[in-house]
Amino acid sequence: MSAPHSDKIHDALIVGGGLVGLATALSLDAAGLDVAVIDALPIEATLAEEFDGRASALAYASWRMFEALGVAGRLRQHAQPLTEILVSDGRAPDGLRPGGPGPFFLHFDSAELQTGLPLGMMAENRHTRLALIETLHDRGITAIAPAKAAGFDFSDPLAAVTLQDGRVIRAKLIVAADGRFSPARQAAGIRTTAWRYKQTAIVATAHHEQPHNGVAHEYFLPAGPFAILPLTGDRSSLVWTETPRAAQALMQLPDEDFAEELSRRFGDFMGAVRPGGPRWSYPLGLQIAEDYVRPRLVLVGDAAHAIHPIAGQGFNLGLRDAAALADVLSEGRAAGLDIGSEVALLPYETWRKADNVSLALGTDIFNRLFSNDDRLLRPVRGIGMALTGAVGPARRFFARHAGGATGTQPALLKGETP
Ligand SMILES: Cc1cc2nc3c(=O)[nH]c(=O)nc-3n(C[C@H](O)[C@H](O)[C@H](O)COP(=O)(O)OP(=O)(O)OC[C@H]3O[C@@H](n4cnc5c(N)ncnc54)[C@H](O)[C@@H]3O)c2cc1C
Repeated sequence: MSAPHSDKIHDALIVGGGLVGLATALSLDAAGLDVAVIDALPIEATLAEEFDGRASALAYASWRMFEALGVAGRLRQHAQPLTEILVSDGRAPDGLRPGGPGPFFLHFDSAELQTGLPLGMMAENRHTRLALIETLHDRGITAIAPAKAAGFDFSDPLAAVTLQDGRVIRAKLIVAADGRFSPARQAAGIRTTAWRYKQTAIVATAHHEQPHNGVAHEYFLPAGPFAILPLTGDRSSLVWTETPRAAQALMQLPDEDFAEELSRRFGDFMGAVRPGGPRWSYPLGLQIAEDYVRPRLVLVGDAAHAIHPIAGQGFNLGLRDAAALADVLSEGRAAGLDIGSEVALLPYETWRKADNVSLALGTDIFNRLFSNDDRLLRPVRGIGMALTGAVGPARRFFARHAGGATGTQPALLKGETP
């Protein structure tokens, strides 16, 4: 961690050193900008095992970006290649029928893409965070934490952020990577469209007797998806969606009872299963910022869009934001534009909003269609999934989308420098 030079003017100040903020710092540095990143929390706290129990499925395009940024080498030993995804209408563990996956409706196989690459890589967020921070230090990027932004000034020609301790940091551009409740977005008066789902995701790690062979399972129970995502070793990360009330009850269960509930939902197709480590819960909602840019301000990651985790795409979208912003700012600068001006930033908004909004709404529809036990909807979605699964081009399209290889690709996602 280095101290800020009060007289130093950065090209970009990134507010928020979460996964997206750190990746944005590296992306803009790769584009030749002078960047600094600040976070409200001490770095050690964000690296502690208890801080974030989630693991993220990194699309293979995101992994290529990590290779280009020099992050992949540090993360590889903790990353599990994702070779297949099996999606099914799960069978309700109601005591009469067992838990576990129902007949498969959709099967995505990396072999079908003929790229020789997996569909993606699964990595625990804490490992990804550490790999990003180490790379940031290697690159000599200014990272200040704990440093809570308390005041924002977006006026021309330079923006300024006042920290809680009174220090002031100046930059041509503020990048808001400060999460779903983004203080920077609020200070700029940017409104959001948002709704809550009556769902909470419980996240835990499961240890199982038999290997997962890189296969992810997602099955749909009436309250929402139950995802089993392969981690290194004979372990899987669980994203178990329930109603908020049921989730609260599950969170309060003693370990032994939780283990029993878990194995009922999970099923026995990987032998005996037991939870390992703590459990976390995340209330789920969708939120989209109405604008992504203002003079001297740009939004990335959850500050711009927070989506349902049903497709495991939130962080991937944030990485695409970071890569697209690097391209747009590098082109703007080459054209002689002031990188904090709205004219330089608007191409970013046009590019990213379309992708983010379509995925946010897609996940919303998917969740509404599948997270229920509606007698009329069940056969319709069964036919829809069976058709998609049976038709090769449709299946390959979805597999490519999961891999992040659709739409216009920024340089970093192609493994190139901006
Ligand atoms: C259950 C679940 C499972 C998920 N699984 C996946 C998956 O498999 N794949 C995937 O791609 N995505 C997944 N996601 C989504 C993904 O986790 C998020 O999209 C991603 O973590 C957002 O990162 P972020 O950096 O934008 O925001 P955050 O992680 O919220 O980071 C914001 C940062 O800003 C800092 N901050 C806030 N205010 C201030 C301030 N005033 N001053 C300074 N710093 C500040 C905070 O301390 C924090 O570090 C999942 C989400 C959930 C809930």
